[in-house]
Amino acid sequence: MASYDYDLFVIGAGSGGVRTARMAAAEGIKVAIAEQSKPGGTCVNLGCVPKKLYVHAAEYGAGFLQASGFGWQSPAPLLDWLTLRDNKSETISELNGLYGEMLSNAGVEMITGHAKLLDANRVSVNGKEFSAERILLATGSRPSLPDIPGKEHLLTSDQIFDLERLPKRMLIVGGGYIATEFSGIFHGLGVDVTQIYRRKLFLRGFDGEIREFVAKQMRKKNIDLRFNCDLRQVGKNRDGSLTVTLQDGSSLQTDLILAATGRIPNTEDLGLDNAGVAVANNGAVIVDDFYQTNIPSIYALGDLINRMQLTPVALAEGMTLVRHLYKGGADPLDYTLIPTAVFSQPNIGTVGLTEEEALESYPQVDVYTANFRSLKHALSGSGERVLMKLLVDPTTDRVVGAHMAGEMAGETIQGIAIALKAGATKSDFDKTIGIHPTSAEEFVTMRSKTRTVTKEH
Ligand code: FAD
Ligand code: NDP
Repeated sequence: MASYDYDLFVIGAGSGGVRTARMAAAEGIKVAIAEQSKPGGTCVNLGCVPKKLYVHAAEYGAGFLQASGFGWQSPAPLLDWLTLRDNKSETISELNGLYGEMLSNAGVEMITGHAKLLDANRVSVNGKEFSAERILLATGSRPSLPDIPGKEHLLTSDQIFDLERLPKRMLIVGGGYIATEFSGIFHGLGVDVTQIYRRKLFLRGFDGEIREFVAKQMRKKNIDLRFNCDLRQVGKNRDGSLTVTLQDGSSLQTDLILAATGRIPNTEDLGLDNAGVAVANNGAVIVDDFYQTNIPSIYALGDLINRMQLTPVALAEGMTLVRHLYKGGADPLDYTLIPTAVFSQPNIGTVGLTEEEALESYPQVDVYTANFRSLKHALSGSGERVLMKLLVDPTTDRVVGAHMAGEMAGETIQGIAIALKAGATKSDFDKTIGIHPTSAEEFVTMRSKTRTVTKEH
């Protein structure tokens, strides 16, 4: 039998790689993990964590302004961006340290540098070769930019966290998670934000009514949201500002452009050809139900396989892989009913089918909605509202989708997701006693149906 340096060699110490390495090592497997940057990957360094800290910063800003209705008198608040930025960086450095400690405590050997496949069982890092019975590719994804004249003037989310100063005006391109979250963040920090999206309505894939509602709420906050609008070219002016020409020929001036136009799998210089690993047209590594590529000793998961680019999904894929390989077997991961949140202003939380999807699966769908102003905003002076929505299959009474736009939507939907995963019916929701006074209680008090929608044949 061939002998190897390691049982498992993981490339990429991000969400998926770290979880897989730690869990495998806990089973007595000899594991190494190679990382070219800082441990923790996108989520810790350039994604979920710094983003959520900035979301909180933006929400504090709104909170100060709303506090006077509750009797708090204070001078107009001033943001010190550098304090926020540097405190954020300090927290992330601590997390990098913790990730390193967790890996070494688990007995995982950390190797720093860019790793590349040499063949089905060998990897090189900084010119040094390592062999392993199995290799896991967990290299994540990176931002992709539109190919337009002047694209060198566009920043991506990788560059946005550590700006030297906040711009006065900012253009955000895209209508997905990142664009919409950063519109809320920078608007909340006092920047004059314009967000453009190339189609009719942003947040494609989310429930239509929720998308309309969020667009309306964002516009009420004075975010300049423009749909059917896209970049044609960008030029830099002498004073450092940018002139943007849009597809309709009109132009606008701005100080900074964030392009949040999707992410592509990180396969560059990974040596996939050396080992013969197959890749799909969109650049994602092709794997089976247990994350095995066409080369039996090589596995891949997380953003690199482009199923759902979410941290908890990468973690779940890693845990499924470890159970499958080292813990006596596993069922394939169930990708249905995965809850998700967009930390926009307002937040969106969602699980299950959208109204549009539900109508593709069922002949009829009962729709229950609640659209209200939360108690907090009776005194805050804010015109903010909350939208909640349940979609029910009338034949089985099963709740097939739950959606919310409003404060703490992600926190609320996490619990609702458990109910849906357990197969809850509308009558289970109705039998549940509410927690008063909360916004979440509306999910168990939607007594009257808003409408029944029927599939068009
Ligand atoms: P990653 O976490 O990206 O890890 C890949 C690692 O591999 C990186 O550390 C990279 O440096 C390393 N690497 C790459 N190539 C090599 C190589 N050849 N050799 C050595 N090392 C290499 N998800 C959520 O669930 N919630 C959120 O709120 C959220 N917010 C986000 C906000 C932003 C701005 C972004 C960009 C993403 C966000 N995500 C969020 C998505 C989430 O970050 C990713 O889905 C998740 O990090 C994917 O994990 P991964 O293990 O596949 O890859
Ligand atoms: P998304 O795929 O969510 O959105 C990309 C957006 O850019 C879409 O609106 C897309 O439009 C638009 N777009 C794509 N290409 C172009 C182009 N050439 N010109 C103009 N517009 C373009 O990607 P993001 O970059 O926002 O985020 C990447 C992923 O990271 C997300 O899908 C999500 O999985 C994850 N993430 C999760 C978060 C969370 O859980 N809260 C937060 C942030 C990221 P169209 O609709 O027409 O395709």
